[in-house]
Amino acid sequence: TAGFQEILTEIEILALIVGCLCHDLDHRGTNNAFQAKSGSALAQLYGTSATLEHHHFNHAVMILQSEGHNIFANLSSKDYSDLMQLLKQSILATDLTLYFERRTEFFELVSKGGYDWNVKNHREIFRSMLMTACDLGAVTKPWEISRQATELVTSEFFEQGDRERSELKLTPSAIFDRNRKDELPRLQLEWIDSICMPLYKCLVKLNGKLKPMLDSVAVNRGKWEELHQKRLSSQAASSSSFSSGFSVSLKDIN
Ligand SMILES: [Zn+2]
Repeated sequence: TAGFQEILTEIEILALIVGCLCHDLDHRGTNNAFQAKSGSALAQLYGTSATLEHHHFNHAVMILQSEGHNIFANLSSKDYSDLMQLLKQSILATDLTLYFERRTEFFELVSKGGYDWNVKNHREIFRSMLMTACDLGAVTKPWEISRQATELVTSEFFEQGDRERSELKLTPSAIFDRNRKDELPRLQLEWIDSICMPLYKCLVKLNGKLKPMLDSVAVNRGKWEELHQKRLSSQAASSSSFSSGFSVSLKDIN
């Protein structure tokens, strides 16, 4: 819809689409930090940088190499090796640590007008940002869908938090801690403001046709803000009723 097919090559597009399909293959329901902390087989196999993403890519390669599954079999060997390299970049790009490492450069290129489609490195960084934009895409969906996606991710995070407590004897951080589920709206605001919004804003600067995504993020942010405010006022109400109740009982004692 944004017309990127006019700019990207067919091989790039194919790598991005297949990358999207394969980017979470054989996911374990726990994140990279958990692989590292628990010394999981995956962390031992791939190391602690982009652990899962290396596994998702290797899993994709394994499927492609199994009998009758190589959807790229008809490509020339040059296209094939280009495609596999782009596919690897695309899948590894979905590691948020790598997104943080590269986004400043991208944001600056775009805001200062230095972005150039003819520079290989600029295209690579753009494809990476596009992968992240898709991976975080639930935040750009209509509220009801977005809310449900958040609920699913949150329940997976809580299960990881349970395992951090029981297996690793650690106290999970807020987003992984089901005892702190009331903080969800606040945490969502943090997530949107620090991770999602800057990316969609920058992509809209690069291509105005992406504006509907940004508008939708803003609507969802508004909903979380509403829930956050509701929680704050109910907290204030319960703490004031608690203190008045407390003062009554003190009076009674006196
Ligand atoms: Zn994903």
